[in-house]
Amino acid sequence: MDKLEKLVEFRNLGLTEKTLKALEKKGYEKPSPIQALTIPALLLGEKDIIGQAQTGTGKTAAFSLPILEKIEENGKHIQAIVLTPTRELAVQVSEEMHALSSSRKIRITPVYGGQSMEFQIKQLKKGVEVVVGTPGRVMDLMNRGILKIDNLKFFVLDEADEMLNMGFVEDIEKILKSTNEDKKMLFFSATMPPVILKIAKKYMREHEVLAVKAREMTTDLTDQIYFEVKDRDKFEALCRIMDLATDFYGIVFCRTKNDVNDLVGRLNDRGYDAEGLHGDISQNHREVTLKRFKSKRLNVLVATDVAARGIDVNDLSHVINYAIPQEAESYVHRIGRTGRAGKQGTAITFITPSEYRKLMFIQKIVKTEIRKEKLPRIKDVIEAKKVRIYAELEKIVENGEFKNFEQMATELLLKADPQTLVSALLKNAYDHELDESNYSEISVGNDRNRENTSSRDGRDRRNERSRSQGSDGDLENTGKVRLFIALGKKDGITLKKLLETITKKANVNESKIRNVELYENFSFVSVPFKEAEVIIESFAVDRNGRKPLIEKAKEKK
Ligand code: ADP
Ligand code: MG
Repeated sequence: MDKLEKLVEFRNLGLTEKTLKALEKKGYEKPSPIQALTIPALLLGEKDIIGQAQTGTGKTAAFSLPILEKIEENGKHIQAIVLTPTRELAVQVSEEMHALSSSRKIRITPVYGGQSMEFQIKQLKKGVEVVVGTPGRVMDLMNRGILKIDNLKFFVLDEADEMLNMGFVEDIEKILKSTNEDKKMLFFSATMPPVILKIAKKYMREHEVLAVKAREMTTDLTDQIYFEVKDRDKFEALCRIMDLATDFYGIVFCRTKNDVNDLVGRLNDRGYDAEGLHGDISQNHREVTLKRFKSKRLNVLVATDVAARGIDVNDLSHVINYAIPQEAESYVHRIGRTGRAGKQGTAITFITPSEYRKLMFIQKIVKTEIRKEKLPRIKDVIEAKKVRIYAELEKIVENGEFKNFEQMATELLLKADPQTLVSALLKNAYDHELDESNYSEISVGNDRNRENTSSRDGRDRRNERSRSQGSDGDLENTGKVRLFIALGKKDGITLKKLLETITKKANVNESKIRNVELYENFSFVSVPFKEAEVIIESFAVDRNGRKPLIEKAKEKK
């Protein structure tokens, strides 16, 4: 399997140059296993397809790419319909399709409840090639005679298991009855409950099931932890982790080649000897890098999943998911490089507020606890460095490795007392290394008491970094997200009303909401990561194209 995976490239799947360009732009280097299985089957084969692979394995592109290849540009009718269980997914899938459509003149429209029907009708009347929608709204539009799907090339059920779980069977069957016979049907799903096969049997023509199995799980010797950290703080967090570790020897995983290049650049600027590994680096350079890394002359390797796939280094001290892996399978793969051969290792995952659920999902699949930890504080890192310096000095003393300097020492001691001299020597040797100002503040988690320096002018508030208010040193405040609410005193909002609005709609506990600030036109609250996600999602429902009522407060760059 691994061998096969290594060989498969998008280029070999039968995709056109246009599509390959779009993929490059998206930063997708290699097809995921489900993509490698289904894309050729859909481009070349005649059969209907049921595709099964875990969540996060790229099923959207697996069906979108071949559809986009097969659709006529500026066609006179809807050629493909994708049904999704939720409106968020409808939007997400249509956005991904749009991004993958490249320069093709293919119009893709999401339709879903909650958004004004007029807008969607207008779009449809202008003519579209692909509709991505929730069953309810699709039926509505069909009944009004606006949405005609009797000349389809493709009919797709995305997240088929979810759709059926949510009781959409009847709707789907109704929709299917209005479609033409000679279309290709695709079901994509994370799991394969019998009901999917039953529906397939009833409605599909000749079909095949293409499934990707979940991989083996993780080892006990790997300590799995995660940190909540905002994107802009990731770099600082990484530096602290590396500096705290005694012998850091690890791979830092990024999502795209560009991310790898950026990070390597920043690490080098800060004095780390780090190298990148991704598909665009020449074979020659990659080999040199790998050789250095394997022989431990290089201790930090920054890589994409794909580039790291073939690396058989198992004794890493750290694996760092600088970007959370897109799928549980790749999490397992990544961290499997540490905690082997009886050696303890640490796997660290950075998550941003919106990735909490993804992490919980990974945790469920790998069936181990991924423990939340607080980022090391600057003073912890400095302290650890000092301890290492003491140990080094002690070793030199023990081994008597200073004979060449005894004469100099005698001369110096004539000029100053030992305390002064040692201090001066330490300054000379370690001033830079022990300088706290090498580190910058991190807004979530530790050091938060130092963050309270920005202006109090209400107008600037939206642009301020999220931060805690108090000098209360309250530990509860760590891992919080500052939310902006587009409601203020002028809307008749009071503290009580604001809390009520949020707790009712998002069903979160009032005690989680802290540091409320009310202004004339807007207000702010702080909540933990987890609640932030729920609240943002609950308030994300469409307001006729207007911005959502609650969003993350903008951060200062
Ligand atoms: P699924 O539908 O299987 O749950 P998605 O289609 O939503 O998964 O994809 C999950 C994530 O993986 C998305 O962020 C997507 O952009 C990304 N992705 C998909 N295919 C690739 C690829 N070949 N390389 C890198 N990332 C990919
Ligand atoms: Mg999906």
